[in-house]
Amino acid sequence: MDRQCLVFEIDRVPENGMVLDRVIDGGLFDIEDEDITLNQDVELKGELKRVRRDILFYARVGTEATVRCSRCLGTFSQNVKCDAKAQFKPKEEAIQSEAEIELRAEDCEIEYYEGETISLAEVVRDAILLSFTTMVLCKDDCQGLCSQCGANLNLAPCTCSLDEVVDPRFEKLRLLKEKLK
Ligand SMILES: [Zn+2]
Ligand SMILES: [Zn+2]
Repeated sequence: MDRQCLVFEIDRVPENGMVLDRVIDGGLFDIEDEDITLNQDVELKGELKRVRRDILFYARVGTEATVRCSRCLGTFSQNVKCDAKAQFKPKEEAIQSEAEIELRAEDCEIEYYEGETISLAEVVRDAILLSFTTMVLCKDDCQGLCSQCGANLNLAPCTCSLDEVVDPRFEKLRLLKEKLK
């Protein structure tokens, strides 16, 4: 399987639409985020449709990813279910006034294509990456890492919180020791 399976010739996309139902090797999406890797194929179920030289694309995207918890930095698998949606336009039309583009855009991403083909790879990849909110947590109550010793507090409590109750005289000594390091 190569990236060609995500490429479509404009002229071959029918005006009354064509069903898209494919399982695609996750590696073809070039997701090289250090915090997100796909560990399953990507399922695409949707539709491609042509309106003159524009291609309308919509699909439900399903896969599974290994992601990194924002709090404890542990990795875990998570199901991905999201929508990918775009309107592909010939590049010549990119010089239209911005107002007009805004009018047409609505909630749909506009992609400009060159030549006679479009590729769905980037639109689907962006949809997958966007489906992860900035805070990805392995569980809602993830305890994260201790800010002092770096221990994963989900595994076991560390002793830092006990040390916090420190005699101020020892604290001065500790600071001095740190300076000498
Ligand atoms: Zn976590
Ligand atoms: Zn600690």
